[in-house]
Parts: sequence; structure tokens; C-alpha cells
Amino acid sequence: MADNHSKEVRSRNMAHIHSVNSKPEEMVRKYLFSHGLRYRKNVRSLPGCPDIVLRKYRTVIFVHGCFWHHHDCGRFVWPKTNEAYWRAKIARNVERDEENTRLLSYVGWRVFVIWECQLKKAVVEENLQKLYEGIIRLNKI
Ligand SMILES: [Zn+2]
Repeated sequence: MADNHSKEVRSRNMAHIHSVNSKPEEMVRKYLFSHGLRYRKNVRSLPGCPDIVLRKYRTVIFVHGCFWHHHDCGRFVWPKTNEAYWRAKIARNVERDEENTRLLSYVGWRVFVIWECQLKKAVVEENLQKLYEGIIRLNKI
């Protein structure tokens, strides 16, 4: 039987599937889920609407893009145009991140941040394993 999908539609579907599956938050969720952890996603009732909330471990996880949250890694580069606009915008994001972390810590949540660059193929397994162990280990103290 002939394939109904045109080449164009097919490649668009593939691109879509790829972009959905490779979303950084989804990579982290999938890893934790496969290791038996259960969580809620995008919890609006908590400061900063954390990407992952592990209530049992009183832990929240933010998955941050290196550009939007100004990670001190090789990935962050100031845009060449509208410099003042970008500096103000990114500075607000960073302030908000700090404020959210402070508020969450204040009421007893542990806050983990995973950066986009920590999810690169060569390092992702190692970093997610560390995250998982951090969640589990600290809970026993
Ligand atoms: Zn980074």
C-alpha cells in the first residue's frame, strides 16, 4: 500500500516529533520517571512555576536555557543588536530566578537547576545521574 504522506508532510512530522521529544524538560522528566520518581509538571502555585516538582522529596527542578537565564558557560553570548534591551531583559530573568529560589528555599523546598548545556549528548547521562542521586541522597539526611 502506498504511503499517503507526501515527503514534505512526512519530514514536517518527523521534525515535530523530534522537537517534542528532545525538549530539555522532557529529557529530565523521562530520566527521573524511568528511575522510579514521580513528579508534577509546571506547578503554577509555586514561585517560578517549576518545571518538575517532586513533592515526596520536597524538591523542585528548573530546566534553564543558557541564554535566557544567563548561564556562565560558553553558550551564552550577548546579542549584537539591541544590546540595552537584552541586558535589561536577561537581568530581569536572573533576578526573578534568584527571588524564586529564595522564596522556595524559605518554605523548605530544595531547588535544583539543570542547564541546557548539561543535557548535551556527551554529558547528559552523567549529569542526570548526579541529579537523581542528589535528590535521593539529600532526602535521607
Ligand atoms: Zn550553559
